[in-house]
Amino acid sequence: MDTGICQACGTAGGALMKFSLGKDFFGRPYDRLSPSSDQSPKWYCAACSMHKNLQRDFRDIRAEYDKLSAGQGSELAKGDEFLRASVRLREIMTILGAAQEPSTLLAEKDVKLLIERLNTATMPV
Ligand SMILES: [Zn+2]
Repeated sequence: MDTGICQACGTAGGALMKFSLGKDFFGRPYDRLSPSSDQSPKWYCAACSMHKNLQRDFRDIRAEYDKLSAGQGSELAKGDEFLRASVRLREIMTILGAAQEPSTLLAEKDVKLLIERLNTATMPV
């Protein structure tokens, strides 16, 4: 049921890719975390499909950061996951910065803010 239109940017006529969330950034199955709208696969053009991956990782990391800063159990309380998340956020910034057009799915300023917050968070040992 390829409709021929990217469900993020509305581009028609290009090759579309099916995107479903699968596992989250921390390797957990997605069903208990994602809003119901994210559970059915959607169709995206190549650029949006890539940005959708970035958006998913960004959301996962932000959710865990929120838990960490609220003093709840968080994946980011593990030192190696914290590092992995920091590295991934920088990667996301680089990819967004290199994109020809701003992503419709993820704002650079949101990513930048989260990087700053992680930088000021106490790194777990
Ligand atoms: Zn698109």
